[in-house]
Amino acid sequence: MKITRVDTYVLDHRLEQAFESASARFDRRQHMLVEIECDNGLIGWGECLGPTGPNAAMVAAYAPLLLGRDPLETEKLWTQLYHTFRDQGQRGISVTALSGIDVALWDIKGKFFDVPVSTLLGGRFRESVKAYATGSFRKDGVDPVADIAAEVAGYRDQGFHAVKIKIGFDVEQDLEIIRTVRDVIGPDMRLMIDGNHGYDVIEAIEVGRRAAPHRIDWFEEPVLPELLAAYAEVKAGQPIPVAGGETWHGRWGMQAPVEQRCIDILQPDLCGAGGFSECRRIADFAGLHGIRLVPHVWGTAVQIAASLQFIAAMVPSPPRRNPIEPILEFDRTENPFRQAVVTTPIEHVKGVVAIPSGPGLGIEINRDAVAEFSVCRP
Ligand SMILES: [Mg+2]
Repeated sequence: MKITRVDTYVLDHRLEQAFESASARFDRRQHMLVEIECDNGLIGWGECLGPTGPNAAMVAAYAPLLLGRDPLETEKLWTQLYHTFRDQGQRGISVTALSGIDVALWDIKGKFFDVPVSTLLGGRFRESVKAYATGSFRKDGVDPVADIAAEVAGYRDQGFHAVKIKIGFDVEQDLEIIRTVRDVIGPDMRLMIDGNHGYDVIEAIEVGRRAAPHRIDWFEEPVLPELLAAYAEVKAGQPIPVAGGETWHGRWGMQAPVEQRCIDILQPDLCGAGGFSECRRIADFAGLHGIRLVPHVWGTAVQIAASLQFIAAMVPSPPRRNPIEPILEFDRTENPFRQAVVTTPIEHVKGVVAIPSGPGLGIEINRDAVAEFSVCRP
């Protein structure tokens, strides 16, 4: 089996209503898919986290190195592709692009052996996973406290066991939102806060100390991801467990935060941190250091499916009668192509998502939807 074609699709949709995290404004949804075809007709799909144009350019730069190669040699290809841009590309787009390629290669490998990727990774420890709702971005022209209160009430009513809300804008307003959300969701639902690196150390410690009585599961990206000493100060200076990792790439990007114990929870992204090949190593590395792993997820059903395959194969930890189960990040913001790109949408039932059991990623691509939302191809 040989690779004969590598293509990318930039999907784009102008949002009805723009929204913001502490670090980014979204007036469009844009995500990028990778398609790899082989001479026997097998096709694999992947997705790249991050800016679509640079990711597409980077996949195009890797493509000549893939043509004519055996897609089953995932480790060999990952190593050779990474090495090609190693001197200038240890972080960022070169790794996010490689992630989408690696996910597509594992999709092919699963289809070739007629098993889900989770089986190739060593076996399925679970057939479903609890999802947590990600939302509560800020919008123009509305009262954010009332707007977010109404939004999280919806997640509560839909049966989600947990919700993650966006903070990092303004200490007092953020704390008012946290208090309000806890009141709305009641004492039993889990609540996480995501600063999207909007604070400095002093603010983050103050928010953590004052938010802690509202029972927060984790405080995500409190400060800039480059500032590992600042992360460590936040972790030491307030009681909420600190999470991070969506902007760290590859095993070497994870090494310092884990070894320096800057975080309690590591959040690698399957489509950003290096694909299945690298995230398997990252999971082992986190486990070696006793750091909890919760994959970051922000993309289409292709990305969700890849994350689900990975989650299915995550080793129960700690190894006890009722281990801490992994959870799935489930983005609830507007994105009409998120599920449209697959023939069977990956939806939740009362906050629980079934893990597809078909070969590869376990999904079928809806080419009409990919064409409809694609800005690069008809
Ligand atoms: Mg985040």
